[in-house]
Amino acid sequence: MQVIVAGGGIGGLAAALALHGSGHEVTVFEAAPTILPLGVGINLLPHAAEVLGELGLFDALSAQSVATRELIYFNRFGQRIWGEPRGRFAGHATPQLSLHRGALQGVLFDAAVERLGTGRVLCDRRLAGHEQGGGRVEALFLDRAGAAWKVSADLLICADGIHSAARAGLYPDEGPPIYGGRILWRGTSLAAPFLTGASMIIAGHQDQKFVVYPISPPGPDGRQRINWAADLAIARSLRREDWNRRGDPADFLPRFEDWRFGWLDVPGLVRSAEAIYEFPLVDRDPLPRWSHGRMTLLGDAAHPMYPNGSNGASQAILDAQALVRALAAHADPVEALAAYEAERLPATAAIVAANRRNGPEQCLQIAYERAPNGFDRIEDVFAPGELEAIAARYRVLTGLKHASEPPVR
Ligand SMILES: Cc1cc2nc3c(=O)[nH]c(=O)nc-3n(C[C@H](O)[C@H](O)[C@H](O)COP(=O)(O)OP(=O)(O)OC[C@H]3O[C@@H](n4cnc5c(N)ncnc54)[C@H](O)[C@@H]3O)c2cc1C
Repeated sequence: MQVIVAGGGIGGLAAALALHGSGHEVTVFEAAPTILPLGVGINLLPHAAEVLGELGLFDALSAQSVATRELIYFNRFGQRIWGEPRGRFAGHATPQLSLHRGALQGVLFDAAVERLGTGRVLCDRRLAGHEQGGGRVEALFLDRAGAAWKVSADLLICADGIHSAARAGLYPDEGPPIYGGRILWRGTSLAAPFLTGASMIIAGHQDQKFVVYPISPPGPDGRQRINWAADLAIARSLRREDWNRRGDPADFLPRFEDWRFGWLDVPGLVRSAEAIYEFPLVDRDPLPRWSHGRMTLLGDAAHPMYPNGSNGASQAILDAQALVRALAAHADPVEALAAYEAERLPATAAIVAANRRNGPEQCLQIAYERAPNGFDRIEDVFAPGELEAIAARYRVLTGLKHASEPPVR
């Protein structure tokens, strides 16, 4: 089949490569004039890394990543609440990969340009609408100069991100993304490794939190590129969400000035940032439908979610896998898109809802509510098995089960 993919982000490029790999003729239309290594750190959970591995991209990705070893939660005093091994260290066949979003998009983009064929990955083409009829779908694209292109295909896959034009076309009354009451300042710093050099840590609680993980192997000087995010509860977001908006440390650093844990110097990390970006915590309510005849939504266009649990990119890649599976199982493409939606819409809606309740970071909030000034022993704060159950519930919900999975309560 001929497939148009609108959006050359993580989900769109993964879908394009997976569709091409199963024999479809795919063209990607990306609104940005050129693909730049934008963003900061991102995580590929093992099931998503496996999908990209099956597309032959594992070596290229792992050369630019850290295979995350563990995830540890601390309170704001640096007292350990809960920790778990990750990726291969937790028994998965594929590691969890932490890397720069630009590196991930670059690997996907280069592979798409090489595999899809000449003229099949086009920048400066913004999806502006579509029509269906006669067993085809016709998409309208505009460039920055206002020139218009009409392109016809069997299917239109809309992976055009959190401000999806396709979604707005289907649901014109939906309005902007929903603000979750917190601002995230995200950055990268070159710094000495902390803990194992492959540890991800989250400290604090819902309204004041610091997330840190390395995203590159150590360089010749021993330093790693370390990704971090400082979250603060702020009643109102004054600015529209923009992934590239620069942030000012004066807006958040004073609140983290005494976050020095011996093994991690939060203010030092922030002060040595290469760049800082500001992004509000936003998502959208789950939709009743993604698929309409020969078009459907994928990734953030379909299910933008809070970043707790590191699921944004991974769920977009799982969408791509499910889409290809559905097309292989159903001769009728309209039925295939309905089957894709039936598998992925409820699964991702459950993650959106869980992330609104802090997802796997629930343990931080509970620890804060029960022991706001810290604790002597974590056993005094949580009942036996309570922490394991929180982590296990979220793993099952996000499709990330592994051999040693404890029972879910
Ligand atoms: C610039 C940028 C920086 C980001 N930085 C981070 C980060 O540091 N950490 C993190 O966890 N997540 C980041 N994200 C979000 C993350 O990539 C997504 O949450 C996740 O990977 C799901 O991918 P997606 O392909 O659905 O969306 P995205 O990766 O957001 O990709 C959507 C793509 O669609 C394009 N597009 C938008 N409108 C149209 C249109 N009308 N027609 C055609 N194309 C269109 C966009 O330019 C973009 O390339 C960033 C996203 C962007 C766009």
